[in-house]
Amino acid sequence: MSDTSAHSTTSGTSSPYASGSVFHRLNPSDIKYRDEKAKVLRSYIVGRIIGEGSYGKVKEAIDSKTKKMVAIKILSKKTLRRVPGGEASIEREIGIVESLSHKNILSILTHFPIENKQKFYIVLEYMGGGTLTHLLENAPNKRLPLFQARKLFLGILGALEHMRERHILHRDIKPDNLLLDDDGDIKLADFGVADVVSSEIHNKLRENAGIGSPAFQAPELIASPTTGPKKPKRPNIDLIFKSDIWSAGIVLYIMVVGQYPFPIQGNIMLLFEDIAAGKFEIPDWVDPDCADLISSMLQTNPLERIGLEGIRVHPFVKNSIPKPAKSTLVGHHNIQSMWPNHDKSALASVVKKMKPQLEREEEVERAARDSFDQPGPSQEDEDRRTSQSSQSKCSIM
Ligand code: AMP
Repeated sequence: MSDTSAHSTTSGTSSPYASGSVFHRLNPSDIKYRDEKAKVLRSYIVGRIIGEGSYGKVKEAIDSKTKKMVAIKILSKKTLRRVPGGEASIEREIGIVESLSHKNILSILTHFPIENKQKFYIVLEYMGGGTLTHLLENAPNKRLPLFQARKLFLGILGALEHMRERHILHRDIKPDNLLLDDDGDIKLADFGVADVVSSEIHNKLRENAGIGSPAFQAPELIASPTTGPKKPKRPNIDLIFKSDIWSAGIVLYIMVVGQYPFPIQGNIMLLFEDIAAGKFEIPDWVDPDCADLISSMLQTNPLERIGLEGIRVHPFVKNSIPKPAKSTLVGHHNIQSMWPNHDKSALASVVKKMKPQLEREEEVERAARDSFDQPGPSQEDEDRRTSQSSQSKCSIM
């Protein structure tokens, strides 16, 4: 069981709050780009690859209609077919995301297949700041100033509260799935293993313990029923929801301490044993309110773990932290865009330049649509055709 009083000092680490912390700007030169030429896809001007996931590439793009940046996830239908239930799981994910609407949850703007390319496209809000993982990797000591960690945590809390209202369990909350926009605001993404919560799902959750990332998995979900806490007999939705609270607690710990509370030591069973035993320490330089909240979120017994209502009124959440001196919210720009200026007029001038290509694409599309929309032959036409073909057959014979 975790306990804040068991804080131990990480030897040699000084308080990160002592020096008037600043926000971290990532170095764009760390990122390599392969493709440089903008292309047109429907009404989008598509630029560089900005990420790669298990199902395909993610590219930046300008929506020529709104003159705003978007991100386009490009999924290969071939790859999806190779994964058991691949296509169905994408449809499920889209359905779940479309049932949510919150400023801290990444929205799907639209999605469409292009059959002759065997591709499926998902157009997303553009997150110019990359992932929380990128941000932490580039932060001094791999941790954030308390002010910034709290701000991001409040965003995660907002997302969790909205999901709780809609009965959605994310099941894979981790820094890789938390994206930052140009202003440094956070959004939860990747609902690939999310589920709609019901009592029946509770049994399924432990059966599917492999789902999600081991280091973020709640003790009640891990695969060892002998070491893990007992599964509550009649779980309610709030209790089921506690597994996402656990994962969010791990994220808060990582943001503030710069390390994992349960480090992965090569052997996943050892990791699960540590998680089940709630064996972790919080360095004593961590802000006491923050440390208390982490401990409450990382209670191994979900019945004792703090709920969303408790988090909302916790001092770490309730009491604001003064902005550190001289800190300005610099954008977390680690995505080096093909179009460095993302303001509307700059993007509008790109759209203007690409007008001929956009019009050509529109024409091709219209032609494809028209040929698809051609009414099929009427019964009369069909009958005439059949009788003609049988006549011609007769004549050949
Ligand atoms: P995913 O396929 O969702 O795992 O995404 C792969 C990578 O693409 C992420 O790690 C991000 O770096 C990037 N990415 C995904 N979605 C977006 C987005 N909406 N805006 C900017 N970058 C994104």
